[in-house]
Amino acid sequence: MSWSRAVAQEQHHLDNQAERVRAHAQGVLDNTAAALRGLNALALEPCSRQHVRHMQTLALRDRAIDEIAYVEGGLVRCTTWGVPDAQTSLAPPDLKLSSGASLKLDAVPVVSAALRMVAVRDGAYSALIEPGRFTDVVLPDGVQLALVLPGVGLLGSVANPDLVLVAQALGGGTLRLEEDYLTSVARSSDLAVVMLEPQSEALAALRREHWLWLPLGAVASAVLIALVVWLSCWRLSLRGELAIAIRRREFVLHYQPIMDLRAGTCVGAEALVRWARPGRALLRPDQFIPVAEAHGLITDITREVFRLAIRDMGDLLARDRNAHIAINLSAGDMKDLGSLHALHEMLRDTGIAPQQIWLEATEAGFLDVERARATIMEARELGHIIAIDDFGTGYSSLSYLQRLPLDALKIDKSFVDTIGTDSATHNVTDHVIEMAKSLRLKIVAEGIEHQEQADYLKARDVDLGQGWLFGKPMEAGDFIRFYRRHGAGAVRPARAQAA
Ligand code: C2E
Ligand code: CA
Ligand code: CA
Repeated sequence: MSWSRAVAQEQHHLDNQAERVRAHAQGVLDNTAAALRGLNALALEPCSRQHVRHMQTLALRDRAIDEIAYVEGGLVRCTTWGVPDAQTSLAPPDLKLSSGASLKLDAVPVVSAALRMVAVRDGAYSALIEPGRFTDVVLPDGVQLALVLPGVGLLGSVANPDLVLVAQALGGGTLRLEEDYLTSVARSSDLAVVMLEPQSEALAALRREHWLWLPLGAVASAVLIALVVWLSCWRLSLRGELAIAIRRREFVLHYQPIMDLRAGTCVGAEALVRWARPGRALLRPDQFIPVAEAHGLITDITREVFRLAIRDMGDLLARDRNAHIAINLSAGDMKDLGSLHALHEMLRDTGIAPQQIWLEATEAGFLDVERARATIMEARELGHIIAIDDFGTGYSSLSYLQRLPLDALKIDKSFVDTIGTDSATHNVTDHVIEMAKSLRLKIVAEGIEHQEQADYLKARDVDLGQGWLFGKPMEAGDFIRFYRRHGAGAVRPARAQAA
């Protein structure tokens, strides 16, 4: 930003300078032409004392004009210096000016043949101007200037401009950033001004710019730091609030139906935890489970989820042995056998069989393979069914799976999403299904939203499915009613009637 600002600023500056020089040089031409028109209108005896005096006064008064000559028949009759000794003829002009006057470069003054001047002619008069008068302006250091009469030549220059660059600038017309130079062109009817500024000059401006941006940068970083502090405070306070929430038992479970794809009946549900903060909206697990995991609070939450699931679904599970509830375990739970033993205690005398509680763990929970193995063995020993969750989103390989005594595999929603599309992962879904079958794992497909997906999975003998197509996560009471309508038990009386 600093650089482009510096360049833009410098360009603007250069444009102003070029325009100033252009106005000055054009002014010299126009003023001279006007003065000569005035002389032409005079009715004085040519080359009389009065006439010469008049030309002298005018040359003296006008800063740019050095000499005025009166011309008749192509010959100089008299000048501001009087009547010349020798006869001088005038060479033809180079260019017609917009004012109606004409211009000749390299004109020779009557008094000193060694000098080269610019002549402006109108009617019977010719005014000589020293070329430096056109560029008689103060320029910043390092700026080069060329005053060009297009098609004729150079009217004047300052600081030896590179004529190749000047020609290039005139050809391109507009301003642009050359590799080494900033250029600016100003044109008027008679002439063009080209200004070149080496970039080293612009860099000086850049250094000045830095001082402007430094405080802004400081303010921006202060804002960022404040944001980071605020965020970490928020997370810390979230951690504090979570600890209190666990003590106050502010959690509730929602239940999402799990369907038998072939029979179309509900066989259970996944328990999904929500934080019901008093007076505020329910908080989704994604917003607090990671914080709980990071601060060692997750095992407490898992125990609370066990307790709630047994409280909410105890009756349903005890009455229907085929129903199950799936509960999510975090990586922290996989290292702590205490949670499993707590679950065992809680199930005692409830009439719920341990195989009615499925435990889902993500691949993150299996990173420490030996430990995960021990936990899974223990859980199976206690009679639970173990599923690998979000399969395919983590690092697990086939060899990984073979080493773990799993019962079920949940295909992640991202794979189900590809069904019916021609995305590259489409085939992977089939492979995952085949792999799970070869390992004799029960398959649960997650995130089924369309009938087409359900049909596809059913055609590939996927056992179970879960997703919005069948039901969103719902409150315990709603799920119990859902189960009454869609559970295997609800279908039987209908069949009996039909029979
Ligand atoms: P998950 O185990 O993969 O749970 C499935 C998530 O997908 C749920 O989000 C569910 O609402 C959502 N879902 C289900 N079907 C569909 C569908 O058809 N379309 C779409 N778009 N989404 C669907 P939720 O409830 O927000 O849970 C998010 C994650 O939080 C869970 O992912 C799980 O990893 C974690 N979680 C939830 N409850 C618990 C818990 O009690 N303990 C632990 N440790 N983690 C939990
Ligand atoms: Ca899950
Ligand atoms: Ca999942």
